[in-house]
Amino acid sequence: MAKVNKNSRRNFIKGASLTGLAGMFTHASVAAEPKVEPSAKNLIFLVADGMGTGTLSLAHYWQLRNKGRPLNWMHLLERRGVRRALQGTASASSPVTDSAAAGSAWGCGQRVNNGSININPRGKSLEPLFVRAKKAGKVIGCVSTCRITHATPAAFVANVAHRDSEDVIAEQYLEREVDVLLGGGRRYFESSTGNRMDAFVKKGYAISKTLGDLQALSGQGGPLLGLYTDDHLPYALDRAQDRALAEIPGLEIMFEAALSRLSDSREGFLLQVEAGRIDHAGHVNDGAAILHEQLEFDRCIETALQFCERHPDTLLIVTSDHGTGGCQLNGAGEAYKNSGAALDGLNSMTASLEAIAGEVKRTGSLYRAYFKSVTGLDLPEEKVAVFNKAFLAGAEYPAGLLADTFKAELGLLTAVGWTSHNHTAEHVELAAIGPGASLIPPYLENYQLHGHICRALGI
Ligand SMILES: [Zn+2]
Repeated sequence: MAKVNKNSRRNFIKGASLTGLAGMFTHASVAAEPKVEPSAKNLIFLVADGMGTGTLSLAHYWQLRNKGRPLNWMHLLERRGVRRALQGTASASSPVTDSAAAGSAWGCGQRVNNGSININPRGKSLEPLFVRAKKAGKVIGCVSTCRITHATPAAFVANVAHRDSEDVIAEQYLEREVDVLLGGGRRYFESSTGNRMDAFVKKGYAISKTLGDLQALSGQGGPLLGLYTDDHLPYALDRAQDRALAEIPGLEIMFEAALSRLSDSREGFLLQVEAGRIDHAGHVNDGAAILHEQLEFDRCIETALQFCERHPDTLLIVTSDHGTGGCQLNGAGEAYKNSGAALDGLNSMTASLEAIAGEVKRTGSLYRAYFKSVTGLDLPEEKVAVFNKAFLAGAEYPAGLLADTFKAELGLLTAVGWTSHNHTAEHVELAAIGPGASLIPPYLENYQLHGHICRALGI
Protein backbone atom coordinates (compact mmCIF):
# COMPACT_ATOMS: atom_id res chain seq x y z
CA MET A 1 0.00 0.00 0.00
CA ALA A 2 2.98 2.32 0.47
CA LYS A 3 3.59 4.53 -2.53
CA VAL A 4 6.96 6.26 -2.64
CA ASN A 5 7.06 9.61 -4.43
CA LYS A 6 10.06 11.29 -6.01
CA ASN A 7 10.60 13.59 -3.07
CA SER A 8 10.73 10.90 -0.45
CA ARG A 9 14.38 10.04 -1.01
CA ARG A 10 15.52 13.66 -0.81
CA ASN A 11 13.29 14.30 2.18
CA PHE A 12 14.67 11.33 3.92
CA ILE A 13 18.27 12.34 3.38
CA LYS A 14 17.35 15.40 5.43
CA GLY A 15 16.30 12.95 8.12
CA ALA A 16 19.76 11.40 8.15
CA SER A 17 20.74 13.96 10.78
CA LEU A 18 18.27 12.19 13.06
CA THR A 19 20.48 9.11 12.86
CA GLY A 20 23.43 11.15 14.05
CA LEU A 21 21.42 12.48 16.96
CA ALA A 22 20.40 8.98 17.94
CA GLY A 23 24.09 8.07 17.98
CA MET A 24 24.60 10.71 20.66
CA PHE A 25 21.87 9.13 22.75
CA THR A 26 23.61 5.77 22.51
CA HIS A 27 26.89 7.22 23.60
CA ALA A 28 25.33 8.94 26.60
CA SER A 29 23.49 5.82 27.66
CA VAL A 30 26.63 3.66 27.47
CA ALA A 31 28.38 6.00 29.91
CA ALA A 32 25.53 5.62 32.40
CA GLU A 33 25.23 1.84 32.18
CA PRO A 34 26.11 -0.37 35.15
CA LYS A 35 29.52 -2.03 35.12
CA VAL A 36 28.26 -5.51 35.91
CA GLU A 37 27.19 -7.25 32.69
CA PRO A 38 23.66 -8.65 32.92
CA SER A 39 23.18 -12.21 31.86
CA ALA A 40 19.84 -13.10 30.42
CA LYS A 41 19.58 -16.72 29.40
CA ASN A 42 16.31 -16.35 27.49
CA LEU A 43 14.57 -13.67 25.45
CA ILE A 44 10.82 -13.37 24.94
CA PHE A 45 10.11 -10.66 22.35
CA LEU A 46 6.42 -9.77 22.07
CA VAL A 47 5.49 -7.62 19.05
CA ALA A 48 2.14 -5.91 18.61
CA ASP A 49 2.58 -5.29 14.87
CA GLY A 50 1.14 -1.95 13.79
CA MET A 51 0.11 -0.85 17.28
CA GLY A 52 0.13 2.88 17.77
CA THR A 53 -0.60 4.25 21.23
CA GLY A 54 -4.16 5.05 20.11
CA THR A 55 -4.82 1.32 19.72
CA LEU A 56 -3.32 0.62 23.14
CA SER A 57 -5.53 3.30 24.71
CA LEU A 58 -8.63 2.09 22.87
CA ALA A 59 -8.14 -1.44 24.23
CA HIS A 60 -7.30 -0.12 27.70
CA TYR A 61 -10.48 1.93 28.02
CA TRP A 62 -12.60 -0.84 26.51
CA GLN A 63 -11.20 -3.28 29.06
CA LEU A 64 -11.72 -0.89 31.99
CA ARG A 65 -15.33 -0.40 30.95
CA ASN A 66 -16.11 -4.03 30.10
CA LYS A 67 -13.91 -6.00 32.50
CA GLY A 68 -13.23 -3.47 35.23
CA ARG A 69 -9.46 -3.76 34.96
CA PRO A 70 -6.62 -2.18 33.00
CA LEU A 71 -4.59 -3.90 30.32
CA ASN A 72 -1.75 -6.20 31.36
CA TRP A 73 0.52 -3.81 29.42
CA MET A 74 -0.39 -1.07 31.94
CA HIS A 75 0.17 -3.45 34.87
CA LEU A 76 3.56 -4.34 33.43
CA LEU A 77 4.53 -0.65 33.52
CA GLU A 78 3.87 -0.61 37.26
CA ARG A 79 6.22 -3.50 38.01
CA ARG A 80 9.44 -2.94 39.90
CA GLY A 81 12.44 -3.00 37.58
CA VAL A 82 10.51 -2.39 34.38
CA ARG A 83 12.18 -0.21 31.73
CA ARG A 84 9.85 1.87 29.58
CA ALA A 85 11.14 3.49 26.42
CA LEU A 86 9.94 5.51 23.47
CA GLN A 87 11.22 4.06 20.21
CA GLY A 88 11.75 5.75 16.87
CA THR A 89 10.73 3.60 13.91
CA ALA A 90 12.16 5.21 10.76
CA SER A 91 13.73 2.98 8.10
CA ALA A 92 16.67 3.73 5.79
CA SER A 93 14.31 4.71 2.97
CA SER A 94 11.51 6.56 4.78
CA PRO A 95 10.43 8.13 8.08
CA VAL A 96 7.51 5.69 7.79
CA THR A 97 8.74 2.12 8.06
CA ASP A 98 7.25 -1.12 6.85
CA SER A 99 7.40 -4.30 8.93
CA ALA A 100 10.37 -5.69 7.01
CA ALA A 101 12.62 -2.71 7.73
CA ALA A 102 11.39 -2.33 11.32
CA GLY A 103 11.90 -6.02 12.08
CA SER A 104 15.31 -5.94 10.40
CA ALA A 105 16.38 -3.01 12.58
CA TRP A 106 15.86 -5.32 15.57
CA GLY A 107 17.16 -8.33 13.66
CA CYS A 108 20.49 -6.97 12.44
CA GLY A 109 21.02 -3.63 14.18
CA GLN A 110 20.94 -1.46 11.06
CA ARG A 111 18.34 0.56 9.22
CA VAL A 112 17.44 -1.08 5.92
CA ASN A 113 15.15 0.04 3.09
CA ASN A 114 11.45 -0.69 3.33
CA GLY A 115 10.76 -4.09 1.84
CA SER A 116 14.14 -5.69 2.53
CA ILE A 117 14.95 -8.15 5.28
CA ASN A 118 18.39 -7.96 6.89
CA ILE A 119 20.04 -6.71 3.68
CA ASN A 120 21.30 -3.16 4.02
CA PRO A 121 20.95 -0.40 1.37
CA ARG A 122 24.41 -1.30 -0.02
CA GLY A 123 23.25 -4.87 -0.61
CA LYS A 124 25.15 -6.43 2.27
CA SER A 125 23.54 -9.37 4.10
CA LEU A 126 23.70 -8.95 7.88
CA GLU A 127 23.53 -11.78 10.37
CA PRO A 128 20.05 -11.97 11.93
CA LEU A 129 19.73 -12.08 15.71
CA PHE A 130 18.36 -15.62 15.87
CA VAL A 131 21.09 -17.01 13.62
CA ARG A 132 23.66 -15.50 15.95
CA ALA A 133 21.85 -16.93 18.99
CA LYS A 134 21.67 -20.37 17.37
CA LYS A 135 25.46 -20.31 16.87
CA ALA A 136 25.76 -19.53 20.58
CA GLY A 137 23.90 -22.78 21.31
CA LYS A 138 20.46 -21.34 22.02
CA VAL A 139 17.19 -22.61 20.58
CA ILE A 140 14.95 -20.21 18.66
CA GLY A 141 11.29 -19.89 17.83
CA CYS A 142 8.79 -17.68 15.99
CA VAL A 143 5.05 -17.50 16.58
CA SER A 144 2.69 -15.31 14.58
CA THR A 145 -0.97 -14.83 13.73
CA CYS A 146 0.26 -13.99 10.21
CA ARG A 147 1.84 -16.32 7.71
CA ILE A 148 4.95 -17.45 9.58
CA THR A 149 6.99 -16.37 6.54
CA HIS A 150 5.68 -12.80 6.91
CA ALA A 151 8.08 -9.89 7.41
CA THR A 152 8.28 -9.63 11.20
CA PRO A 153 9.16 -13.23 12.13
CA ALA A 154 11.37 -13.43 9.02
CA ALA A 155 13.34 -10.39 10.21
CA PHE A 156 14.65 -12.37 13.19
CA VAL A 157 15.93 -15.23 11.01
CA ALA A 158 16.17 -14.57 7.28
CA ASN A 159 18.04 -12.53 4.66
CA VAL A 160 16.07 -11.64 1.53
CA ALA A 161 16.19 -8.62 -0.76
CA HIS A 162 12.40 -8.47 -0.76
CA ARG A 163 9.90 -9.55 1.88
CA ASP A 164 7.66 -11.11 -0.78
CA SER A 165 10.18 -13.93 -1.28
CA GLU A 166 8.29 -15.98 1.31
CA ASP A 167 9.19 -19.22 -0.41
CA VAL A 168 12.88 -18.41 0.12
CA ILE A 169 12.15 -17.41 3.72
CA ALA A 170 10.52 -20.82 4.36
CA GLU A 171 13.60 -22.49 2.91
CA GLN A 172 15.87 -20.42 5.14
CA TYR A 173 13.81 -21.43 8.20
CA LEU A 174 14.56 -25.04 7.29
CA GLU A 175 18.28 -24.46 6.63
CA ARG A 176 18.75 -22.28 9.72
CA GLU A 177 16.83 -24.78 11.86
CA VAL A 178 14.34 -22.58 13.64
CA ASP A 179 13.25 -24.88 16.45
CA VAL A 180 9.63 -23.75 16.75
CA LEU A 181 7.49 -22.20 14.00
CA LEU A 182 3.80 -21.66 14.74
CA GLY A 183 1.31 -19.60 12.73
CA GLY A 184 -0.30 -19.39 9.32
CA GLY A 185 1.17 -19.64 5.82
CA ARG A 186 0.91 -23.35 5.05
CA ARG A 187 0.97 -22.52 1.34
CA TYR A 188 4.70 -21.85 1.48
CA PHE A 189 5.33 -25.27 2.99
CA GLU A 190 2.88 -27.46 1.08
CA SER A 191 1.38 -26.39 -2.19
CA SER A 192 4.02 -24.09 -3.64
CA THR A 193 6.90 -26.52 -3.42
CA GLY A 194 5.21 -29.85 -2.86
CA ASN A 195 7.54 -31.40 -0.36
CA ARG A 196 8.97 -28.78 1.99
CA MET A 197 6.88 -30.18 4.85
CA ASP A 198 8.54 -33.57 4.26
CA ALA A 199 11.95 -31.92 4.50
CA PHE A 200 11.00 -30.56 7.94
CA VAL A 201 9.83 -34.04 9.01
CA LYS A 202 13.15 -35.49 7.83
CA LYS A 203 14.94 -32.97 10.03
CA GLY A 204 12.99 -34.28 13.03
CA TYR A 205 10.19 -31.71 13.26
CA ALA A 206 6.86 -32.69 14.76
CA ILE A 207 4.04 -31.32 12.59
CA SER A 208 0.87 -29.72 13.95
CA LYS A 209 -2.12 -28.78 11.81
CA THR A 210 -4.89 -28.29 14.37
CA LEU A 211 -5.44 -27.02 17.90
CA GLY A 212 -6.15 -30.62 18.93
CA ASP A 213 -2.84 -32.00 17.72
CA LEU A 214 -0.96 -29.00 19.15
CA GLN A 215 -2.42 -29.84 22.55
CA ALA A 216 -1.64 -33.55 22.07
CA LEU A 217 2.00 -32.64 21.37
CA SER A 218 2.29 -30.59 24.57
CA GLY A 219 4.97 -31.66 27.00
CA GLN A 220 7.14 -33.12 24.24
CA GLY A 221 10.53 -31.72 23.29
CA GLY A 222 12.19 -31.28 19.90
CA PRO A 223 11.52 -29.04 16.93
CA LEU A 224 7.95 -28.19 16.01
CA LEU A 225 6.28 -26.81 12.87
CA GLY A 226 2.62 -25.84 13.32
CA LEU A 227 0.74 -24.28 10.42
CA TYR A 228 -2.99 -23.77 10.78
CA THR A 229 -4.11 -21.86 7.67
CA ASP A 230 -2.85 -21.36 4.13
CA ASP A 231 -2.78 -17.61 4.62
CA HIS A 232 -2.91 -15.52 7.83
CA LEU A 233 -4.89 -16.82 10.80
CA PRO A 234 -8.44 -15.42 11.00
CA TYR A 235 -8.91 -12.46 13.35
CA ALA A 236 -9.37 -13.22 17.06
CA LEU A 237 -12.86 -11.68 16.78
CA ASP A 238 -13.84 -14.22 14.10
CA ARG A 239 -12.14 -17.15 15.85
CA ALA A 240 -14.19 -16.37 18.96
CA GLN A 241 -17.49 -16.19 17.04
CA ASP A 242 -17.22 -18.77 14.28
CA ARG A 243 -17.35 -22.43 15.32
CA ALA A 244 -15.87 -23.48 12.00
CA LEU A 245 -12.59 -21.87 13.14
CA ALA A 246 -12.42 -23.71 16.48
CA GLU A 247 -9.47 -25.89 15.43
CA ILE A 248 -7.24 -22.87 14.81
CA PRO A 249 -5.23 -22.03 17.94
CA GLY A 250 -5.01 -18.42 19.09
CA LEU A 251 -1.79 -16.51 19.75
CA GLU A 252 -1.80 -17.24 23.48
CA ILE A 253 -2.07 -21.01 22.98
CA MET A 254 0.68 -21.04 20.34
CA PHE A 255 2.87 -18.92 22.65
CA GLU A 256 2.39 -21.36 25.53
CA ALA A 257 3.13 -24.33 23.26
CA ALA A 258 6.32 -22.64 22.03
CA LEU A 259 7.43 -21.85 25.58
CA SER A 260 6.95 -25.44 26.68
CA ARG A 261 9.00 -26.68 23.70
CA LEU A 262 11.86 -24.21 24.08
CA SER A 263 12.17 -23.68 27.80
CA ASP A 264 14.03 -26.87 28.69
CA SER A 265 17.04 -25.88 26.58
CA ARG A 266 20.16 -25.78 28.74
CA GLU A 267 21.66 -22.86 26.82
CA GLY A 268 18.43 -20.87 26.75
CA PHE A 269 16.07 -19.70 24.01
CA LEU A 270 14.93 -16.70 21.99
CA LEU A 271 11.25 -16.55 21.13
CA GLN A 272 9.52 -13.93 19.02
CA VAL A 273 5.72 -13.74 19.32
CA GLU A 274 3.87 -11.48 16.92
CA ALA A 275 0.27 -10.27 17.02
CA GLY A 276 0.59 -9.58 13.32
CA ARG A 277 -2.99 -8.74 12.54
CA ILE A 278 -3.29 -5.63 14.70
CA ASP A 279 -1.55 -4.15 11.67
CA HIS A 280 -4.03 -5.68 9.21
CA ALA A 281 -7.06 -4.42 11.14
CA GLY A 282 -5.39 -1.00 11.11
CA HIS A 283 -4.91 -1.14 7.33
CA VAL A 284 -8.59 -2.05 6.90
CA ASN A 285 -9.74 0.51 9.53
CA ASP A 286 -11.68 -2.12 11.48
CA GLY A 287 -12.22 -1.01 15.08
CA ALA A 288 -13.69 -4.24 16.43
CA ALA A 289 -11.05 -6.44 14.80
CA ILE A 290 -8.17 -4.29 16.03
CA LEU A 291 -9.59 -4.26 19.57
CA HIS A 292 -9.75 -8.05 19.82
CA GLU A 293 -6.30 -8.51 18.27
CA GLN A 294 -4.91 -6.11 20.88
CA LEU A 295 -6.74 -7.89 23.72
CA GLU A 296 -5.35 -11.25 22.57
CA PHE A 297 -1.85 -9.77 22.50
CA ASP A 298 -2.37 -8.37 25.96
CA ARG A 299 -3.22 -11.81 27.37
CA CYS A 300 0.19 -12.96 26.11
CA ILE A 301 1.85 -10.37 28.36
CA GLU A 302 0.35 -12.13 31.38
CA THR A 303 1.55 -15.51 30.09
CA ALA A 304 5.04 -14.06 29.62
CA LEU A 305 5.16 -12.49 33.08
CA GLN A 306 4.12 -15.76 34.71
CA PHE A 307 6.91 -17.53 32.83
CA CYS A 308 9.43 -14.85 33.84
CA GLU A 309 8.50 -15.27 37.49
CA ARG A 310 9.39 -18.95 37.26
CA HIS A 311 12.43 -18.21 35.06
CA PRO A 312 13.96 -14.96 36.29
CA ASP A 313 16.85 -15.32 33.85
CA THR A 314 14.46 -14.28 31.04
CA LEU A 315 14.48 -10.85 29.41
CA LEU A 316 10.98 -9.86 28.28
CA ILE A 317 10.54 -7.11 25.68
CA VAL A 318 7.07 -5.89 24.72
CA THR A 319 6.83 -3.43 21.86
CA SER A 320 5.48 -2.51 18.44
CA ASP A 321 7.19 -1.92 15.11
CA HIS A 322 5.10 1.10 13.93
CA GLY A 323 1.57 2.45 14.00
CA THR A 324 -0.99 1.56 11.34
CA GLY A 325 -4.08 3.50 10.32
CA GLY A 326 -3.87 6.11 13.10
CA CYS A 327 -6.48 4.32 15.18
CA GLN A 328 -7.99 6.54 17.90
CA LEU A 329 -11.04 6.58 20.13
CA ASN A 330 -12.37 10.05 19.35
CA GLY A 331 -14.19 12.43 21.63
CA ALA A 332 -17.89 12.02 20.83
CA GLY A 333 -20.92 14.03 21.84
CA GLU A 334 -21.25 17.05 24.11
CA ALA A 335 -18.20 17.30 26.38
CA TYR A 336 -17.20 13.90 24.89
CA LYS A 337 -19.59 12.08 27.17
CA ASN A 338 -20.64 9.66 24.41
CA SER A 339 -17.15 8.19 23.97
CA GLY A 340 -17.59 5.65 26.80
CA ALA A 341 -20.87 4.41 25.38
CA ALA A 342 -19.30 4.30 21.93
CA LEU A 343 -16.94 1.61 23.23
CA ASP A 344 -20.02 -0.54 23.76
CA GLY A 345 -20.75 -0.12 20.07
CA LEU A 346 -17.71 -2.29 19.40
CA ASN A 347 -19.49 -5.11 21.27
CA SER A 348 -22.28 -5.18 18.72
CA MET A 349 -19.72 -5.98 16.00
CA THR A 350 -19.44 -9.77 15.97
CA ALA A 351 -17.55 -10.21 12.69
CA SER A 352 -14.52 -8.46 11.25
CA LEU A 353 -14.91 -6.40 8.09
CA GLU A 354 -12.72 -9.07 6.46
CA ALA A 355 -15.24 -11.78 7.42
CA ILE A 356 -18.12 -9.58 6.22
CA ALA A 357 -16.28 -9.02 2.93
CA GLY A 358 -15.83 -12.81 2.70
CA GLU A 359 -19.60 -13.24 3.02
CA VAL A 360 -20.15 -10.55 0.36
CA LYS A 361 -17.82 -12.45 -1.97
CA ARG A 362 -19.67 -15.68 -1.25
CA THR A 363 -23.14 -14.27 -1.85
CA GLY A 364 -22.11 -11.79 -4.55
CA SER A 365 -23.67 -8.82 -2.78
CA LEU A 366 -23.91 -7.01 0.57
CA TYR A 367 -27.30 -7.54 2.20
CA ARG A 368 -28.54 -5.04 4.79
CA ALA A 369 -30.07 -7.70 7.03
CA TYR A 370 -26.82 -9.66 7.17
CA PHE A 371 -24.78 -6.52 7.95
CA LYS A 372 -27.22 -5.63 10.72
CA SER A 373 -26.97 -9.13 12.19
CA VAL A 374 -23.18 -8.83 12.64
CA THR A 375 -22.87 -5.13 13.49
CA GLY A 376 -26.24 -3.93 14.76
CA LEU A 377 -26.13 -1.20 12.11
CA ASP A 378 -29.08 -0.40 9.87
CA LEU A 379 -27.43 0.86 6.70
CA PRO A 380 -29.11 3.31 4.33
CA GLU A 381 -30.23 1.43 1.22
CA GLU A 382 -28.64 3.96 -1.16
CA LYS A 383 -25.21 3.55 0.43
CA VAL A 384 -25.49 -0.23 0.23
CA ALA A 385 -26.18 0.21 -3.49
CA VAL A 386 -23.05 2.39 -3.81
CA PHE A 387 -21.00 -0.31 -2.07
CA ASN A 388 -22.38 -3.12 -4.22
CA LYS A 389 -21.70 -1.18 -7.40
CA ALA A 390 -18.06 -0.59 -6.40
CA PHE A 391 -17.71 -4.20 -5.25
CA LEU A 392 -19.05 -5.57 -8.53
CA ALA A 393 -16.68 -3.26 -10.40
CA GLY A 394 -13.86 -5.29 -8.86
CA ALA A 395 -12.71 -3.41 -5.74
CA GLU A 396 -9.26 -4.62 -4.74
CA TYR A 397 -9.85 -4.56 -0.96
CA PRO A 398 -13.55 -5.19 -0.22
CA ALA A 399 -12.98 -4.99 3.56
CA GLY A 400 -11.39 -1.54 3.17
CA LEU A 401 -14.24 -0.59 0.82
CA LEU A 402 -16.72 -1.48 3.58
CA ALA A 403 -14.78 0.73 6.03
CA ASP A 404 -14.65 3.64 3.57
CA THR A 405 -18.24 3.42 2.32
CA PHE A 406 -19.71 3.15 5.81
CA LYS A 407 -17.14 5.32 7.59
CA ALA A 408 -19.80 7.68 8.94
CA GLU A 409 -22.04 4.87 10.26
CA LEU A 410 -19.17 2.91 11.81
CA GLY A 411 -17.73 6.09 13.30
CA LEU A 412 -21.06 6.95 14.94
CA LEU A 413 -21.39 3.42 16.33
CA THR A 414 -17.89 3.15 17.81
CA ALA A 415 -16.26 6.63 17.80
CA VAL A 416 -13.11 4.96 16.46
CA GLY A 417 -11.43 7.14 13.83
CA TRP A 418 -8.50 6.68 11.46
CA THR A 419 -5.92 8.81 9.68
CA SER A 420 -5.44 6.54 6.65
CA HIS A 421 -5.10 2.92 5.53
CA ASN A 422 -1.30 3.21 5.79
CA HIS A 423 1.49 2.95 8.34
CA THR A 424 2.33 6.03 10.40
CA ALA A 425 5.59 7.59 11.58
CA GLU A 426 4.64 7.72 15.27
CA HIS A 427 7.10 6.64 17.94
CA VAL A 428 6.09 3.44 19.69
CA GLU A 429 6.05 2.14 23.24
CA LEU A 430 8.56 -0.37 24.53
CA ALA A 431 8.54 -2.09 27.92
CA ALA A 432 11.25 -4.46 29.10
CA ILE A 433 11.77 -6.41 32.30
CA GLY A 434 14.35 -8.92 33.45
CA PRO A 435 18.14 -9.10 33.17
CA GLY A 436 19.43 -6.51 30.70
CA ALA A 437 16.25 -4.40 30.69
CA SER A 438 18.13 -1.54 32.32
CA LEU A 439 20.53 -1.41 29.34
CA ILE A 440 17.71 -0.01 27.21
CA PRO A 441 17.67 3.79 27.35
CA PRO A 442 14.39 5.69 27.80
CA TYR A 443 14.67 6.90 24.20
CA LEU A 444 16.08 4.82 21.39
CA GLU A 445 15.86 4.18 17.68
CA ASN A 446 14.63 0.73 16.70
CA TYR A 447 18.01 -0.38 15.26
CA GLN A 448 19.71 0.31 18.59
CA LEU A 449 17.70 -2.35 20.38
CA HIS A 450 19.64 -5.12 18.64
CA GLY A 451 22.89 -4.26 20.43
CA HIS A 452 21.20 -4.05 23.83
CA ILE A 453 19.65 -7.49 23.32
CA CYS A 454 22.96 -9.04 22.26
CA ARG A 455 24.68 -7.54 25.28
CA ALA A 456 21.92 -8.67 27.65
CA LEU A 457 22.18 -12.21 26.30
CA GLY A 458 25.98 -12.18 26.10
CA ILE A 459 25.95 -13.19 22.42
ZN1 LIG B 1 4.52 -4.12 11.03
